[in-house]
Amino acid sequence: MTGGTVSLEMRTRCERCGAALADDGPAFICSYECTFCANCADGMEHTCPNCGGELVARPRRRAQETSRG
Ligand SMILES: [Zn+2]
Ligand SMILES: [Zn+2]
Repeated sequence: MTGGTVSLEMRTRCERCGAALADDGPAFICSYECTFCANCADGMEHTCPNCGGELVARPRRRAQETSRG
C-alpha cells in the first residue's frame, strides 16, 4: 500500500457552512466537486464561490427505485 491521496470521495460536509450532508439528502455540487448544502447553494444563487461554476443537484447514490414522485 502506498498511502497517499484520497480522491473521488463523496463529500459529507458543506464546504461553506460545514453542515453535514446525507448521502441521499439534498446537496449541490459543481464540476470541480465543490459541495454545498442546499441552503448555501440557494444563497449563492447556485454559483460556486471557488471556481465560479454552476452548482447542480448532486445525484443520489444508486438506490432501489421503488416509486417515483
Ligand atoms: Zn452550507
Ligand atoms: Zn467549484
